[in-house]
Amino acid sequence: MVDVALPLPIHRTFTYRINTESQPQPGTRVLVPFRRQEHIGWVVGPGSKSKIKQIRPVISILDDSPQLPKELFDLCRWIAEYYVAPLGIALRAALPAVLSDVSRNYVRLLADAPLNKLRSREQRVIAALENHRKPLRVSTLRRQLGMGSIWPEIRSLLAQGVVGHEMVPPAKPPVKTKKVLRLIDRLATLQARDEIFFRTPRQREAYELLERLGGASELIYMIKEEGFSRGVIRGLEAKDLVGVFEEEQLRDPFANISAGKPPVLVPTKDQQKVINALIGALDEDEPMPFLLQGITGSGKTLVYIELLREALIRGQSAIVLVPEIALTPQTVSRFRAHFDDQVAVVHSGLSEGERYDAWRSLISGQRRIAVGARSALFAPLSNLGVIVVDEEHDGSYKQSEAPRYLARDLAVVRARQTGAVCVLGSATPSLESWTNARTGKFHHLKLTKRVGGARLPEVHVVDLRVKKRGSADAALINDRGGGVLSSGLVSAIDTRLERAEQVILLLNRRGYSSFIQCRECGDVEQCLNCSISLTYHRAERRIICHHCRYDAPAPERCPRCASRDLSYRGLGTEQVERITVETFPSARIARMDVDTTSGKWAHQRILERVGKRDIDILLGTQMIAKGLDFPRVTLVGVVNADVGIHLPDFRASERTFQLLSQVAGRAGRGKLGGEVLIQTSLPNHYAIQAAVSHDFEGFAKREVAVRENPRYPPYVRMVNIILSSPDQRVTAKSAEAGAAWLRKWLRDQNIEESRVVELVGPAPAPIERLHGRWRWHFFLRSPSPSTIGRAVRALIDGFKVPGGDVRLVIDRDPIALL
Ligand code: ADP
Ligand code: ZN
Ligand code: ZN
Repeated sequence: MVDVALPLPIHRTFTYRINTESQPQPGTRVLVPFRRQEHIGWVVGPGSKSKIKQIRPVISILDDSPQLPKELFDLCRWIAEYYVAPLGIALRAALPAVLSDVSRNYVRLLADAPLNKLRSREQRVIAALENHRKPLRVSTLRRQLGMGSIWPEIRSLLAQGVVGHEMVPPAKPPVKTKKVLRLIDRLATLQARDEIFFRTPRQREAYELLERLGGASELIYMIKEEGFSRGVIRGLEAKDLVGVFEEEQLRDPFANISAGKPPVLVPTKDQQKVINALIGALDEDEPMPFLLQGITGSGKTLVYIELLREALIRGQSAIVLVPEIALTPQTVSRFRAHFDDQVAVVHSGLSEGERYDAWRSLISGQRRIAVGARSALFAPLSNLGVIVVDEEHDGSYKQSEAPRYLARDLAVVRARQTGAVCVLGSATPSLESWTNARTGKFHHLKLTKRVGGARLPEVHVVDLRVKKRGSADAALINDRGGGVLSSGLVSAIDTRLERAEQVILLLNRRGYSSFIQCRECGDVEQCLNCSISLTYHRAERRIICHHCRYDAPAPERCPRCASRDLSYRGLGTEQVERITVETFPSARIARMDVDTTSGKWAHQRILERVGKRDIDILLGTQMIAKGLDFPRVTLVGVVNADVGIHLPDFRASERTFQLLSQVAGRAGRGKLGGEVLIQTSLPNHYAIQAAVSHDFEGFAKREVAVRENPRYPPYVRMVNIILSSPDQRVTAKSAEAGAAWLRKWLRDQNIEESRVVELVGPAPAPIERLHGRWRWHFFLRSPSPSTIGRAVRALIDGFKVPGGDVRLVIDRDPIALL
């Protein structure tokens, strides 16, 4: 018997019977029936004696050996436990998707099968297979026959040896291969060569070319490029001097991006101090994590590179996490330039096959460095020496579906489990990491100067409140920029254009205008499925929901009162683009946001043009704030800093500060210096003030104080519990029942004062409706992670979610409460 974890939202494992003597190892994949379907599950251990009488058998064991290393298996267990997620869901998140894709189940009729004594349903299956001749997908077969589940029949036929079960096209995506010609015997002396190639000089040429090429070459190269005939190759084969081998060819889209030669950089004194501290930790058994707090442009990437180099020398491997690969091509190519084909780049743009290739190249040890977004944390590397999390504060490290892990925290966990050095780097660390560094849980390393004597840019605020009618400034604004770009910003841009320098303009809201409001009755058109106003997209002339993608033609009249007097409110990037084009007709402008970057390498292409100075003004959402390193960008303009600052979420100020600091950090990275203009109607807000004065510590201290009462992280740990259903009343009732259940549990537990758990809510979620579902939530907070964990576990095990379509989501350490 085996215990199997299934990739289903069910918080338990299942026991199956197994018909072989040998017990499959944990981490081995099996195909099992569940309800009326078959699933790929993972063996987690020997099955426990269960009370259930009819234990169903495993249909098929899919692997000869476990697909994931024990260390990763342990990490998944930790995730399942901590984030209160089913183990099968955690495993699915850690592995390439193809490995858990059940749609690749095929059955095939075996030759000369004994066809007598079959039941009628079995005969129907056989008839369909006979008709088809080739292996048939089980799901297709089931659909063709219209028979509901056909696994009982298939299992019976399998047992009788009438059909075979396979995973073709293979459970693993097809591996691309290439033919490689290899020397298999070396002729040491010239005399031997003269003899053996006496009448075949072309063979000798081919042989000696292979020698010069290091003993191997692609066959196609020898034939197409070097012009050797197949006869020559066959001749060499007949002499047992060479062999033709099928070798795996790894597909790597980043291979197309020229990495270039790495510039030889000598670390500055400050960098070297940090590097030494990190390298020192490589030799410790259980190194403490590091927070590397380095201002923008202080050269954190070089620090990572030097640390990685040292780890590789020691035979160790490394993981580098970056927020989003597409947005950080410069960082990625710097790693590629230094470590070349040691690097596997893992990102969301990869096809399933490419992702699987990367996985194999890492598990086989062919590549020793994984660079990627959050899921690269699961790179199957052995002897892990370093985990780097760049821009550790970034929200994209949180997975937004189960298991809702935070890769930054997992990096610390995995490093602890493997003894690796963990480096969390940022100019604006999360308050959690900053607090950990201050309380001695992390080492605190700092880089306080920009490399090469460059200074942080000067930041100025443009107060949007002063543009009253009639003021001198307002006149200017209305001349050019239509009230969107202030006169100060317009003239700053003009200056840069004259000097052939570059400008970055940030507005963290896409579309043309974020809502359309009727001037007669005040109505704002909302999404049918969400409590969100619809954003007007001018290019498509449609209104679109940014959450569920519902869209409709832009209205000409108010849907409520039929007035034609509609106003387009809430500035978006599309509108800023139009205004910028009108204001600076000769400038070359590119917009970068979700709408302009849907193509696979769209980001790359835009950024390449900026790098080649084909673009004067790069305009975009938060996408343009991260990691870009362009020395000719001397001006950053924030069109409106207030977007997001009033969101009903405890991290709204933190995110605003981080975004402003990050984007400001794009200016003045070269010798030319830089300037930042922030337009805002909240010039006195502490997040904006701190960004103006580059004062991270000031911001952090103030923000931490704000989080003390009511208590929010980093003072407490939180779990957000969200219930949703298509019915508003049912949702409210379920949330109330869940909260009541948990309140009682907490009362019954007599949890001591210092570990007190506070339950807040229930209440409608700030976004009350999403994708057609009503949402209510309540949350727990406590200084004690273990107590809060126990409480949620108790809820999951003990509280019965009312019937109907009610979903319960557990979000531990949420990054937002929306
Ligand atoms: P950060 O990630 O801290 O914002 P980067 O790592 O992007 O900073 O470095 C900023 C710039 O400084 C890059 O162009 C990088 O090549 C350069 N740089 C970093 N270290 C050195 C060094 N020791 N000598 C010269 N240039 C350096
Ligand atoms: Zn109206
Ligand atoms: Zn919607």
